[in-house]
Amino acid sequence: MNHITPFFVETDWQTLLRQSICNIDELLNEVKLDSSILPVSAQAATDFAIRVPTPYLNRIEKGNPNDPLLLQVLPQPAEMERYPGYSNDPLEELDTNPAPGLIHKYKGRVLLILSGACAINCRYCFRRHFPYQENQLGSQQWQQVLQYLKNDQSITEVIFSGGDPLATPDKRLNNMIRDIEAIAHIQRLRIHSRLPVVIPQRVTDELCHTLASSRLQTVCVLHVNHANEVDTQVAKSIAKLQAAKVTVLNQSVLLKGINDSVDCLKNLSEKLFTYGVLPYYLFVLDPVHGAAHFDVSDNDAIALVNTLQTELPGYLVPRLAREIPGRPSKTLLSLT
Ligand SMILES: *Cc1c(COP(=O)(O)O)cnc(C)c1O
Ligand code: SF4
Repeated sequence: MNHITPFFVETDWQTLLRQSICNIDELLNEVKLDSSILPVSAQAATDFAIRVPTPYLNRIEKGNPNDPLLLQVLPQPAEMERYPGYSNDPLEELDTNPAPGLIHKYKGRVLLILSGACAINCRYCFRRHFPYQENQLGSQQWQQVLQYLKNDQSITEVIFSGGDPLATPDKRLNNMIRDIEAIAHIQRLRIHSRLPVVIPQRVTDELCHTLASSRLQTVCVLHVNHANEVDTQVAKSIAKLQAAKVTVLNQSVLLKGINDSVDCLKNLSEKLFTYGVLPYYLFVLDPVHGAAHFDVSDNDAIALVNTLQTELPGYLVPRLAREIPGRPSKTLLSLT
């Protein structure tokens, strides 16, 4: 029998993650731009590291200093400006941490910080200063988390967050999900991740098997801000999740110069829905130090979504929201 050697072997996600671009010169070189055209800040890159995996990089238009994907990952001098009203912990999450790695702010659902790592570092991220080192889920902490979940019958949903929870290896995720399944009052598992988009190869057969075989109803909330982030590889990873009985939603952050137009938001909703993904939240920016240059005013945000509402079926319009510390839920920005 002939032995056929495949001429194309797909690189696995962990290798892709390791091969991510993490310095300015390399990034500029890859996108065919130089710092005379595009202001960059080495200081900002020290403050919050650059990280751009190649599947995402490949979707950036070369030679375009205004590319909406590039601007999400490029450290700019504006990040070093400090403004009143901005802070390092805008959501005051450090005050609602009953066990390491666990945030219980809202009724019925708890958020677990599975991994401090992200596959991509988004410059506008509200967790850019989060002390992940103090919130690692080691095996002892995991037992504490399980005990907390067991003790509170009102908890019906567990949310895997981060960082990026899918930066966790499959075996460990599988064990965690099996432990959660053993708690009878937990009905749903939600995973908030940008990995299926930035490294679509992350949606492995093993992960899909774990999710498909779970008794928990599973929701995956992707994080896509611009239609250009979705290519055929991403579409494939979405389809794999759906085949594993996962409900796939998307949340975005409204970002000046990236997606703050009706056309952009409309394209995004329509493109995602061609793959069966429904919009969930559109967040206004959290006031974190270093991200003020992405801010869109509430009035502009409301006007945008009002217009969007006249252009799209209601189910393709995301809920415009922000998180206000101390409130029992996200706060919707009211449309008039
Ligand atoms: C956003 C968030 C949730 C989830 O809120 P939903 O409105 O259900 O999406 C849960 N816990 C925390 C701590 C959150 O920040
Ligand atoms: S937590 Fe989400 S928004 Fe923040 S850097 Fe990671 S992937 Fe980006």
